[in-house]
Amino acid sequence: MAEPYVIKMPQLSDTMTEGVVVSWEKNVGDQVERGDIVATIETDKAIMDVEVFRDGFLSGPLAPVDSTVAVGDAMAYLVTSAGEVQHAEAAAPASSEGPATEQVERPPAADASVTGSGAPQGVTHTITMPQLSDTMNEGVVVSWEKSVGDKVERGDIVATVETDKAIMDVEVFREGFLSGPLAPVDSTVPVGSPLAYLVDRKEQSVDEVAAPPVSARREETQPETPAPPAPAPPTAAVSASGAVPAARPQGRGATPYARAIAGARGTDLNRVSGTGPGGVIVGADVLGAHVASPVAAVGFPQVDVPGDGRTMTKLEKAISDTMTSSLSMPTFHVTTYVKLGKLIKASKAQGASVTVTIAKACALAMQQFPKMNWCYQPQDKLVERTSVDIGMAVAADGGGLVVPVLRGCESRDLEALNGDWKDLVERARKRRLKPDEYTGSTFQISNMGMFGVSHFDAIATPGIAAILAIAANTEQGSPFTVTADHRVVNGAEVAMYLEALKELIEQPESWMGPSGPAIPEGDWDYDVLVVGGGPGGEDCARDLAGHGLKVGLVNDAPFPGGECLWRGCIPSKAWRAAADRLRDRLNDGHLGISCGQAQLDWGKLEDSRRTVLETRGDMALKTDKGVKIKYLQGFGRFVDEHHLLIDTSGNSKDPHARARPGEKPRGETVSFGCAVVATGAPPFVPPIPGAIEGLAENGGVLTSDTVWMLDKQPGKLVVIGGGAIGLEMAQIFQDFGAQVTLLEAQDRILAEVEPEIAKHLTAVLNDDPRLTVHTSVKVEKISGKAGAVTVKYKDSDGKNHSTKVEYVIMGTGKRPVLDGLGLEKAGVAVDKGVVSVDERCRTNVPHIFAVGDVIGGLMLAHTAAQQGRVAAATIVGEDMRYAQDKDCGVIFTRPEAAFVGLSIDQAKARGIDAVEVKVPISIDAKAMINNEQHGMIKIVADKHTQRIIGVHLLADHADTLVGEAVMMVSGNMTLEQVGNAIHPHPTQTELFGELARRLSSRLRRSAKVKVK
Ligand SMILES: Cc1cc2nc3c(=O)[nH]c(=O)nc-3n(C[C@H](O)[C@H](O)[C@H](O)COP(=O)(O)OP(=O)(O)OC[C@H]3O[C@@H](n4cnc5c(N)ncnc54)[C@H](O)[C@@H]3O)c2cc1C
Repeated sequence: MAEPYVIKMPQLSDTMTEGVVVSWEKNVGDQVERGDIVATIETDKAIMDVEVFRDGFLSGPLAPVDSTVAVGDAMAYLVTSAGEVQHAEAAAPASSEGPATEQVERPPAADASVTGSGAPQGVTHTITMPQLSDTMNEGVVVSWEKSVGDKVERGDIVATVETDKAIMDVEVFREGFLSGPLAPVDSTVPVGSPLAYLVDRKEQSVDEVAAPPVSARREETQPETPAPPAPAPPTAAVSASGAVPAARPQGRGATPYARAIAGARGTDLNRVSGTGPGGVIVGADVLGAHVASPVAAVGFPQVDVPGDGRTMTKLEKAISDTMTSSLSMPTFHVTTYVKLGKLIKASKAQGASVTVTIAKACALAMQQFPKMNWCYQPQDKLVERTSVDIGMAVAADGGGLVVPVLRGCESRDLEALNGDWKDLVERARKRRLKPDEYTGSTFQISNMGMFGVSHFDAIATPGIAAILAIAANTEQGSPFTVTADHRVVNGAEVAMYLEALKELIEQPESWMGPSGPAIPEGDWDYDVLVVGGGPGGEDCARDLAGHGLKVGLVNDAPFPGGECLWRGCIPSKAWRAAADRLRDRLNDGHLGISCGQAQLDWGKLEDSRRTVLETRGDMALKTDKGVKIKYLQGFGRFVDEHHLLIDTSGNSKDPHARARPGEKPRGETVSFGCAVVATGAPPFVPPIPGAIEGLAENGGVLTSDTVWMLDKQPGKLVVIGGGAIGLEMAQIFQDFGAQVTLLEAQDRILAEVEPEIAKHLTAVLNDDPRLTVHTSVKVEKISGKAGAVTVKYKDSDGKNHSTKVEYVIMGTGKRPVLDGLGLEKAGVAVDKGVVSVDERCRTNVPHIFAVGDVIGGLMLAHTAAQQGRVAAATIVGEDMRYAQDKDCGVIFTRPEAAFVGLSIDQAKARGIDAVEVKVPISIDAKAMINNEQHGMIKIVADKHTQRIIGVHLLADHADTLVGEAVMMVSGNMTLEQVGNAIHPHPTQTELFGELARRLSSRLRRSAKVKVK
């Protein structure tokens, strides 16, 4: 009868001394196969599976459920035949007795040989060869870190051992004094066999070397003994890394070790095939170590070679096997030349290793070409991996290469990756990596450029689709050669991948941010000249001045503020405030309040509006001067790429003083290190017959620049254009008492607003008989003069209409006017009428930037201001980008339309699996109380991450409500976070929580249905 195998309480963490038996997953007498989970135990931190690595039959005495068992003590036994099974339950403590056999292995596990032939007197603990990976069955003693007689404390490293893959420390979790017989340095010791002993007292220690070598001795003295018992699976090493175990795969089993490694690497176990019994995934499956014997797989005959060969070391053999297995891969090579200069500079500036920066660039390029990160899996499967784990060769001290794996290159930032890499390299050099730190790469990089190698390629091995070889710099750049597996990627894909990688490496600022301040060396009059004093220019100038730079703000008006203050946001909201009061008084009746017909005093309103404008203009100028911005009144014209003429020709009383066409401009020319173009975009008047004449000659046509000159409120109007400005004006004048017709050429209003919200708003606006919205209209002609203007238009059915009104207001958008600015002299590129910039607001000229309306996109004041701050940050060398996907806007109608982030259609167009949830405002108590029940709120979320990526509102007070939505989107908040936030009652903000919970719940339910 063979000695039974003891199933012991495993040590799952450094600090674990005991565990509680939670359940038995097998019954006494059940057949157990290698990799089976037999029990679950609870430690101080988690519930874990206990798996065994032997075949046999489960035998008692079994540690009872809920009993506490010390680490290393017996929980149960495995016997080789059904006849040997004992059905007894162990009396507590579980370790007291094994089955009826004299060869029972007594706990603790490592003390199996306490009473063995070599053990000294008084031994309290046997230090055994640990099993450091699933496949390890022996190790070589490299060194003893403690001497015989040394005091050993819990957690001390007493020796180092070499496995087939690395050198590892042997840690002891007991106290005592080290005693021989010691396994000699360089001897090979089977897993579980004694390396040395611990004794209670120093005098008991035996200064002896075990001879002959332990493995040989075991073979001699125990010829009948089967392979040594495997100790607890090496979960300790994995759990020490702190990773959360991966979720169990659906419909299959996975060992705890497999789950732990998968958790550490972010591997989805559903994508891993299991080689354990019944398809259970074991650690080796996750590590990709279950590749069939390479030589056998390739089927090459072994060729006899003359000479006296020495046996390969384990490491040499492992490398040899892996390399031979690469012959089973149909690979090809693609080379391109990449200039590394900018990347090296940028890496240095950020204190990052160039190797890590290249790895990050490789991962970023894979976002476009994910197949580069996949791999072929026998038979005829592709493993589609998302986590980019890059293995990069490091020369080990004393020769040889180790390939540590830098994990999560796609998602983690450079700083985090760099920290990891430093640590990995340090330990790799000493060959002290844990198995999960040098296995399972999804892509590899070999950089021999540092050795001056002009060209080379690298060998791709099973488990990856591609490896990148980087050679030394040449005039054309460094050759980057990819060796790729044609079963996974084709030549064109690799070529395109290399092209994308080249772009990322040669333009690192596009993803790494600026590598330093953008101001070139020089004796400039101004470090930075900002041209245009609206929200974009002013915010930019203030931030730059805050960094202590010498800043000039060139503006063609006596006061800063731009369109926003003088002709846009602020005056229109002053009118809106009056319109709101009139509207509210009309609606107060439901609360029992009647004040009769409210009257508008136009003169008073205009006085109030002008006072606000002037006060704010004055405040702005004082603030600018206070923060040491030099305010330079005049019209800026670029003379060349470092000089600007501040044109002060013309009449100084004219706020827009500048030379007229044909006149020689007067003024001062100043030099600048950097410049920021923030010149805005005036109203655009389309070529409708009579429109320009109406504007310039007879005053019958107004724009958002001239409407402020009205001396009384008009009674009848046509507004052309259903954008934000047109709609706001139309409804303001309707509330002031006018009859308004709004004509829009497109088939809907508010192109930038979510379609359902825009449709709903159209219906609300059309509800009032004094305002009519016509879409799909073609305005044919405008004629007449102020007070009596005729507008002829065709409706969507082609029917002709003619209407007579006092004025036409053009709300037909805004376009930058770049004439006279001299951008061409500075070499600044313009595309489709706007200055082209990247997300850091850089033009094609490295030291010239542009922000606000002049660059197109969302023409809003807060957008301009944010872009101004982005340009300032880039100029001073900080990393900041403008993200339109998180920008917002409000259309100040009643109810107001507001948005932040993406609509569901926009999200889907970007490839996001998005969902939305909506609620009508009418269900809200506060909305009912105030009789403000028109509208709705929509939340758009990413189904995968459950992050909120867009919020769209039509509601009274949406201008305030959208503030919370802005925080949700810009803060990447999840549905759960918003759903769990406590919103005050009764307020409309409660709807945000309600919507988030509703969508969460829907997603939860649909996920469950899918699993079924
Ligand atoms: C009626 C109306 C209502 C609006 N309401 C809102 C709102 O509620 N919310 C919102 O966010 N946005 C609103 N806007 C839009 C907002 O006004 C603009 O988006 C914003 O002002 C753009 O800022 P900017 O800095 O790019 O340009 P601007 O504000 O246009 O400033 C540019 C400045 O540069 C000057 N300039 C031009 N060329 C030169 C030159 N060569 N040299 C020197 N100076 C020059 C201009 O005269 C101007 O003062 C509204 C616009 C209008 C017309």
